[in-house]
Amino acid sequence: MSSRPAWLDPRPYAALAGSAGTREVTAALTAAQPTITDFAALLSPAAASHLEAMAQRARELTRGHFGNTIQLYAPLYLSNYCTGGCSYCGFSSDRHQPRHKLTVEQLATEMKALRAMHIEEILLLTGERTPEADFDYLNRCVADAAAVFPKVTVEAFGMRVEEYSALEASGCTGITLYQETYDPTVYEQCHRWGEKRDFAFRIAAPDRAFESGLRSVGIGALLGLADPVSECLALYQHVRHLQRRHWKGGITVSFPRLRPEAGGFRSPHPVDEPFLARIIFAFRICFADVPLVLSTRESAGFRDGMAGIGINKMSVASRTTVGGYEAGEAADKGQFEIDDNRDVTTFCSMLRAHHLEPVFKNWDAVFR
Ligand code: SF4
Repeated sequence: MSSRPAWLDPRPYAALAGSAGTREVTAALTAAQPTITDFAALLSPAAASHLEAMAQRARELTRGHFGNTIQLYAPLYLSNYCTGGCSYCGFSSDRHQPRHKLTVEQLATEMKALRAMHIEEILLLTGERTPEADFDYLNRCVADAAAVFPKVTVEAFGMRVEEYSALEASGCTGITLYQETYDPTVYEQCHRWGEKRDFAFRIAAPDRAFESGLRSVGIGALLGLADPVSECLALYQHVRHLQRRHWKGGITVSFPRLRPEAGGFRSPHPVDEPFLARIIFAFRICFADVPLVLSTRESAGFRDGMAGIGINKMSVASRTTVGGYEAGEAADKGQFEIDDNRDVTTFCSMLRAHHLEPVFKNWDAVFR
């Protein structure tokens, strides 16, 4: 089993999250430069009764740094082939479902459908390396996508620096790579086979991506796999580590929660909506200028409530199946179930009703 680097260990702070009282929570809410001690206090049971005050502080900081805007993007699944054995994922190699990858022509059709929805930023996704969907395939798709979209990012397998450099040369601006869980024991249990079993290789992937010249890296924990307080404390330390080492890089943080999937995996540590809201507010209070992302995994009501409060970037009208935009309602099962099925127009109307401006583009291809 790979060991967890000492700088990532949440245990020295977990006790604080258990023992903080109102005095520590109030201090965290007013701290000019909150520390991990403040963060732990905001995750404590005592902070549950301060949810409204946390929301107000988070809103103030979000609006102060990002204005009344929500940046939008859409995921595009290239392939559901995967050699990985992640116990929580509908694309795991032991799930019996049809496997596909987009051909060049099908990718063009999907991109056309997304452009018709006014999408300017896409996240290309694929599973672990397979003969059908390997690095060369992914790199080719990035190049094709970069000819159509100003901003193209990738969520795929962990790579070497040279591979990230090649993606960057093809027009990729960043990656998303969740550690899934920062608990090495749970990590080993969930990642039953495949390259992804290597905890240490994965934890260092964001560093390698920045070293390659990629501009942005999105990180997160898959909430529900392990104790959520420890996961958030480790995620906090991961953000701080990346900020210290790659101060020019753009770091984003996402809050994926385990969703129902084809294999029937159920969360051993469920995170309810009030606690997820508190996690988001705590990250915003401690990382005022870090973009925080919420996907369509979450319900419409929850997303509406978080938009502009702690969250400033959201996916919209997502499909988690290969070819899902052109096909509309999918015959296959996706990687996981999505909960907010609204189309772009409906979602943007909601944002405007909340006095928020949807932003489709804040970056031009000329800057690549
Ligand atoms: S999470 Fe990724 S690597 Fe794991 S089974 Fe799903 S697609 Fe494959």
